[in-house]
Amino acid sequence: MRYEGKLYRPPSEARSYIVQATIGCSHNLCTYCDMYRDKRFRVRELGEVLEDITMAGRAYPDMDKVFVADGDALVMDVDRWLTILSACRDTFSRFRRASCYATAENVLEKSPDELRTLCEAGLEMLYIGPESGDDVTLKRIVKGGTFAEHVEAANRAHAAGIRLSVIVLLGAGGVARSEEHARETGRLITEMDPAYVGALTLTVIPGTPQARMVEKGHFVLPKIPQLLREMRTIVEHAQPSSTIFRTNHASNYLPIAGELPRDREQILHAIDLALHGEIPLKPEFMRGL
Ligand code: SF4
Repeated sequence: MRYEGKLYRPPSEARSYIVQATIGCSHNLCTYCDMYRDKRFRVRELGEVLEDITMAGRAYPDMDKVFVADGDALVMDVDRWLTILSACRDTFSRFRRASCYATAENVLEKSPDELRTLCEAGLEMLYIGPESGDDVTLKRIVKGGTFAEHVEAANRAHAAGIRLSVIVLLGAGGVARSEEHARETGRLITEMDPAYVGALTLTVIPGTPQARMVEKGHFVLPKIPQLLREMRTIVEHAQPSSTIFRTNHASNYLPIAGELPRDREQILHAIDLALHGEIPLKPEFMRGL
């Protein structure tokens, strides 16, 4: 398999074959993100992508899941997607589904019919990271989508039959917007009603616009208790129909997993215990990005 640069994928796609159909992220502006800053976005030559799938078919003939990289692969046009999905079906006899990262804009650029066609061809899951439901925070982190746009994107994905995994970012609003960020993020989870929600904790990475904002005093990262209170507020306000909620990403201080709304009280109780020092938190040296 041929990969250009560092490869990122959701933890839940650890057992998927990763095909790199795009290089980088077409947005590449989020202030906290350094994943693709070293890459100039481009859609990879289709022949190369198909060759990679053929090679993967020889190495992993029983592969059933494919993750299409890089940062917002849904940006590709529908014809290209259908060619890639068809190659996956022809190559992997057990192929069940493909997934990719997407922005709200990527979804809204596709028509309802196009999204349905993609779902029927095997694109069954999108990972979308609004990070926050607070429009002020979304603007400050240059997310490129508003609360309303993320809700509309989710509605279109649901209508097409595509499942959603939503990523939110503790600390994204800084100290200044901590409460609004958490409350609105809970509300956004309600409105987007995804199958999965993963919470990550913001890590300020040197060289990013976020780091420069910290240096200039324009952004202050909340301390651990405030980050836990954000998690608590999000869980309190989120009213999805049935969502797996996880904070087991390496960046988090308190790994939790449960289903919302079913396990809300247990999750809140665990957060309260952590706030009172009765559950140990992950030490700083064990955190990762
Ligand atoms: S959309 Fe995702 S990959 Fe692209 S810059 Fe933002 S966080 Fe990074």
